Amino acid sequence: MHAWVTRFALLADPTRLTLLLCIHAAGEICVSDLAVAAGLKDTTTSQALRLLRAQGLVATQRAGRVVRYRLADETVHALLHEVVGHAARL
Ligand SMILES: [Zn+2]
Repeated sequence: MHAWVTRFALLADPTRLTLLLCIHAAGEICVSDLAVAAGLKDTTTSQALRLLRAQGLVATQRAGRVVRYRLADETVHALLHEVVGHAARL
């Protein structure tokens, strides 16, 4: 129950939802590419990612100096498929 409240609270924000959709579309993506894809500032993107990571929605993979983000919560991943599917029908 609590996990659902947390998930929906995190998703109920345009910035975070946009970032999650961009991460989903990319598979794995670094912060600067993600900021460009989402049309957000790097700082805004980093702040949102910190929160999403702390709550377990995204995870990081470090390759040398580059840190890439990917989805880490299968339930949220499934929900994003719903969002993408409905957006395509608008
Ligand atoms: Zn997917």
